[in-house]
Amino acid sequence: MNHAKDTPARFTPVPTPGTRPFWEGTQAGELRIQVCGHCRALVLYPRPHCPECGAQSLSWVRASGRGRLHSYVVSHVASPWSGGDTPYVIAVVELEEGPRMMSNLVGVPPLPERLQLDMPLEVVFEPRGEVALPLFKPASPRTP
Ligand SMILES: [Zn+2]
Repeated sequence: MNHAKDTPARFTPVPTPGTRPFWEGTQAGELRIQVCGHCRALVLYPRPHCPECGAQSLSWVRASGRGRLHSYVVSHVASPWSGGDTPYVIAVVELEEGPRMMSNLVGVPPLPERLQLDMPLEVVFEPRGEVALPLFKPASPRTP
């Protein structure tokens, strides 16, 4: 990996009242998503209303942290997300529970031949400032 001398400052999310439970979860090593108390839809990203039925009865649950690689792009442009490291993988991860989220992949070379769609992934948390970023790495085998 290259690491530019004039590294862009790493992006650090700032929790808002609506996203604070999510970021408190990542700090605690949990990936949290919302569930609708009316229609049971699972929701990510954080929002005040259910996107399926409009109810305001969303609460937080812990997701397994496992998912699959739905889509990705290998970026060769340093960004605040990568902190200057290139190339890096921007991925859309489909969580086991259904919702999809964007993240970065770690623990795997950013090479198309190593990145197979539907490959199993699991979340890891990278401390950054007052939050921890949910990143994904190739999943280790499930323990029975
Ligand atoms: Zn709903």
